[in-house]
Parts: sequence; structure tokens; C-alpha cells
Amino acid sequence: MPSTLNVAKFGGTSVANYLTIQNCADIVIKNENTKVVVVSAAAGVTNYLVLLANTALTSEQIAEVIEKIRIIELAILNELKKPSDVEDKLFALLDELEEYARHEEINFRDDLKDALLSMGERMSSLLVAAIIREKGCHAINFDVRKVLRTDDRYTQATPELETIGKLAQQLLLPELDKAIVVTQGFVGADANGKTTTLGRGGSDFTAALLAEALNASTCEIWTDVIGVYTTDPRITDKAKPLPELSFEEAAEMATFGAKVLHPATMEPALRRDIKVFVGSSKEPEKGGTWIRRNCEHEPPFRAITRRKDQVLVTVKTPKMMYAQGFLARVFEIIAKQDLSVDLITTSEIAVSFTLDNPPNSISEKMNKDTLKALSEICEVKVEHDFDAVTVVGNNMHSAAGVSSKIFAAVSNFNLRMICFGANVHNLSFVVQDKDSEEVVKVLHAALFE
Ligand code: ADP
Ligand code: ASP
Ligand code: MG
Repeated sequence: MPSTLNVAKFGGTSVANYLTIQNCADIVIKNENTKVVVVSAAAGVTNYLVLLANTALTSEQIAEVIEKIRIIELAILNELKKPSDVEDKLFALLDELEEYARHEEINFRDDLKDALLSMGERMSSLLVAAIIREKGCHAINFDVRKVLRTDDRYTQATPELETIGKLAQQLLLPELDKAIVVTQGFVGADANGKTTTLGRGGSDFTAALLAEALNASTCEIWTDVIGVYTTDPRITDKAKPLPELSFEEAAEMATFGAKVLHPATMEPALRRDIKVFVGSSKEPEKGGTWIRRNCEHEPPFRAITRRKDQVLVTVKTPKMMYAQGFLARVFEIIAKQDLSVDLITTSEIAVSFTLDNPPNSISEKMNKDTLKALSEICEVKVEHDFDAVTVVGNNMHSAAGVSSKIFAAVSNFNLRMICFGANVHNLSFVVQDKDSEEVVKVLHAALFE
């Protein structure tokens, strides 16, 4: 029999407080196919945890940050009808959090950072399960680390799909007959049982991975917008929600900055043909976006995305004559440092590429080690204050007039880099950060209004 299982994920703003969690619980209970609920940390909590993990703070400053987290969590606890059910567990988690935050090596050890960063999801999943129970449905809080096996690249761990599949079938599937399972997004564990995390925004990815491991037919991403829009609705109020998207279009949008989906979310969905829904937990009646393999309509232009905080790196070898093998050496260094390069332009003696460097990321990408290694073989120039703007669509290479329409719209801006994607779905520009909002707006006006 084909599966009808649905995995529902609720993001930080959806689980921000008692009232917003009520909406989530209603959504879960209304769909009898929803057996697995994946939650993020309450809004703001992970940012505080990153601050504790990455900054050398005084004891008083640590106390202040922890207090801010306590206020968020206790506000939810105190609204519960029977706080005593989960009080002890929540206090134990807050104590555990404080222990990591005050560990003398917290700023230097990524394994400790991950243990600390996981606390937000561990607390919210406890509280969300309690609120679903309040509404009369049996729900349990399940420790995702039992099934979400990853490698040990702390702060940016890679899931081990085969093991996750086996563990989920063995340990998670049997639970679904008994109760609604509420579990943590973003968090995993390595083969030694040590806590890992999947990178910022990783809860969407967790939901898709669990949907894959449990052979679910659908995966819902409930957030603070009524679907995926033609561009970030925070940039322009002309942005329109999209009723449907293909897996490829959604993957491209996520990779190039549509924060509404973590970049890796579409991978499991694509492998197992799991339909992904994106909608607003505050306004579920407004519907949302369905992401599926085949769309009725695949237009040349689908959306515009922006990725902020791009670092532009230019490496150049002065030895023009000996340039063979130069590119290979540059990429060897990049690969060794685990950096992923998205936009790149090359010539025989120089290569420019962009790296992400968003605020609140857990690790700084263009670090001293990378710079040193590159400087040994070439001149290196690192420039900040750039954003990447991407037009996502279909058959962009071949459709007549497609690029001319785009270039005409942006002709007044200084474009630092222009890249056609290696596939047919994108065309990207690197522009100065002060211009990017305007670039998105003029492109949106030209292509969608
Ligand atoms: P959550 O906490 O639920 O995971 P996020 O903040 O990670 O939510 O993602 C939702 C946000 O993504 C929206 O508030 C919106 O500003 C932003 N966003 C960026 N691009 C898009 C887009 N194309 N469509 C919808 N939202 C987008
Ligand atoms: N709480 C994590 C973050 O803020 C993961 C997530 O919300 O998806 O990055
Ligand atoms: Mg998110």
C-alpha cells in the first residue's frame, strides 16, 4: 500500500511562544497522516547559543545571554496547563545548556559548540509535545540523535543516509503507531553518539531526511510566509506566492539564497519523490506552495533570489608561463578546507569565486588557513560587501531573448561578476551589497510585474 505518512516541520517563529505553538498543534492534529513533527528552536534561541559558542564573554555576559534564553523557554512553560509534566526536564536542559556555555573550551571546540547549539531544539521539542498532549492527542518527545546519524564534522555535519534509514525503520517507525512523535530539527549524532548539527537553518533538511527514511509521501515546511514567493517578500511587497515549483527550481532557489528552505532540503525529496509543501503556520487556510517533480507550467523565469554576505576571492598567479595546473591546485586547497564554491569565473591566470559568509554562521569560511595555503601558490585578494542576485527559471540557456531581458533590466548597475549556472536553471550576478535590493526590485519589475 502506498504510504500516506506526512512529516511536518515548524520553524523558529512558528514555535516562538505558547500561542504560535497552539497553531502548530492544531495543524498537526487536523491532518491524521501527520505522525512526525520536526521542530526548530524557538525564534532567537539559536542566535543566542551561537553567541555563547563563538564569543569570549565574561561570566556576567554569559549569565545575561542565558537569562534571555530562559525567559523565552519559561514563558512557554508557564502557559502550559500542567507545567509540572515537563518542568523538571526543561530545568535539566537549561542546566545542561549552562554547563556547556561555561565550559572553558567552548569557544575552541566544535564538538562542545554542537552540544550547546542543540539545546534550543531539545527544549522546544519537549514543549511542543506537551502542548499537543494538552489538546488531547498522545504525543511523545523523541531524541533525534538515536536515528539521525552524521559524520563528525561538527557544526556542519553530513548525514549518513543508509544508517539513518536503518535506524529510523528500527527505532522511530514503531513509535508512530503509538503516538505523534515530536523531534528536533538541525541536530544529529556521530557514530560515537556525540551531538552534531547540520548548519544554520538545518531543520528543513532534517524533516526531509526523516521523510525519506520513513518513506513518507509528503513533507510540510510550516513557516512565517504563505509559501515560496517570486522573491523574498521582505525585499518587495510586489513578490507573489507561487502555487507550485519543481524540485529543481526549489533546489536552485534554496541554494541561491531563498532562506525559506535550507539548501539541502530538496535532495531527499528528489531521491524519493516526496512532495514538499511550504505554508504559514499562522494562516494555514491560505494554502501554500507545492514542490513536486513535474509542474504543470515551467516558465523561463520563476523567481529571483539574493544571497547576502558574499566574500569575493580572486586568486592570480603571476607566473603566466607556468599557469598549467594552477586551477587544479587552487581547487585542491578549496576542497581540503571543505569550502563550497558556487559562483566562479576563470581565466588562464586568475580565478574569482564567491564564498558565503553570513552573520551568525557557526564557522567563518575564508579562514586564515585557507588564505595561507592559497598565498603560497598565488596572489590572493579578498573583498567583502558583495551580494549575489540570481534569476531562477527554466531553459535559460536556450530560450530566445531570455538573457537580453535580464541584462536590459540591470544595465545601470555595476555587475562585478556574471555567471550562467552549470545547469539551465539560473543566471547570477555579484553586485555591491548596497545595490542588491534595487537589483532585485528592477529584475522583479521587469520579469514578474
Ligand atoms: P523558519 O524559521 O520557519 O525556518 P526562515 O526565516 O528560515 O523561517 O525562512 C522564512 C523566511 O524566508 C521568510 O520570512 C522570508 O523572509 C524568507 N525568504 C527568502 N526568500 C523567500 C522566498 N523566495 N519566498 C518566501 N520566503 C522567502
Ligand atoms: N535552529 C536552527 C537555526 O536557527 C535550525 C533551524 O531553525 O532550522 O539555524
Ligand atoms: Mg529556516
